[in-house]
Amino acid sequence: MEKFIDYSYTRVSDDIALILEKKVSDDWRCNIWHIQGSEKDLIIDTGLGLWPLADGIIRISKKPIIALCTHSHHDHAGGLNQFNVRSGHIDELDIFAKPSRESTVATLIKAEHLIEKPNDDFNINNWCMKPAPITDPVKEGDIIDLGNRIFQIIHFPGHSPGSIGIWEKKTGVMFTGDTLYDGVLYDHLYHSVPTVFKESLFRLKEFPIRTIHAGHGPSFGKEKMFQIIEEYMSGKRSMVCPYKT
Ligand SMILES: [Zn+2]
Repeated sequence: MEKFIDYSYTRVSDDIALILEKKVSDDWRCNIWHIQGSEKDLIIDTGLGLWPLADGIIRISKKPIIALCTHSHHDHAGGLNQFNVRSGHIDELDIFAKPSRESTVATLIKAEHLIEKPNDDFNINNWCMKPAPITDPVKEGDIIDLGNRIFQIIHFPGHSPGSIGIWEKKTGVMFTGDTLYDGVLYDHLYHSVPTVFKESLFRLKEFPIRTIHAGHGPSFGKEKMFQIIEEYMSGKRSMVCPYKT
C-alpha cells in the first residue's frame, strides 16, 4: 500500500489536523485541514492535487469524508477530484466543473514553487487542475454536520465570488481560506472585487472569533485578525495598494 509520504500531517488540536504538501514551496502551498467528527470527516481545501491525498486520509480515518473547498483556485481545489463527496460554493460551480488555467489562476504558479515535480514530464507552465464537479453545493447559512461538530457556511465574496468561511460557533473557530491569512491579501485577481472583499472583512470582524485557521500560513486569534484587517484597510496588505504606483 502506498504511504502518505507526499504530505506532512500535524495535529493542531484533538480533532483538527493540518496537512501540507511537502513538495510545494511554503509561500504557495495552501493549508489542508482534516477535521475528524464522530460520524463524518471534513477536509477543508485539497492543495494542488499533484500527489495522492484522498488515499492517505482514508487510511487515517474510516469515516465518510466530505471534501469542501473554500474556493476554486488551483492551490486549494487541485486535489478535489480525488474525493467522492465534493463541496464548494454555488457561485463557482462552473470553475470546479470546467477549470482552466485562467479561471483557477494557475497562470500564477511558476516552476520555482515546486520543490519536486510529480514526474519528469510534468510542466507547471501548461498544467491545469482536473475537473471536480461539485456533488454537494453550499451557500450562505448551510450546515455541515459531522455528528459531534456543526459547521456553518459563511459567504465571504471578494477574493473570488464563491469564497467561503467555515464557522464553528461552539468553539469560535473560523476557517477563512484566502479571505484572511497573515500575509498580503490577493484582491487583484480577475474575479476579485476589492470593495466586496472589504465588506467581507468587515463582516468577519463581527464573529466572536477565538481561532482563525487560515488558507495559508499560521493560525491566529482575534487580536491578530483585527491587526491584519486594519493593515489591509490602510493599504499595507493589499495587492491593489493605494500607495504604490
Ligand atoms: Zn485564492
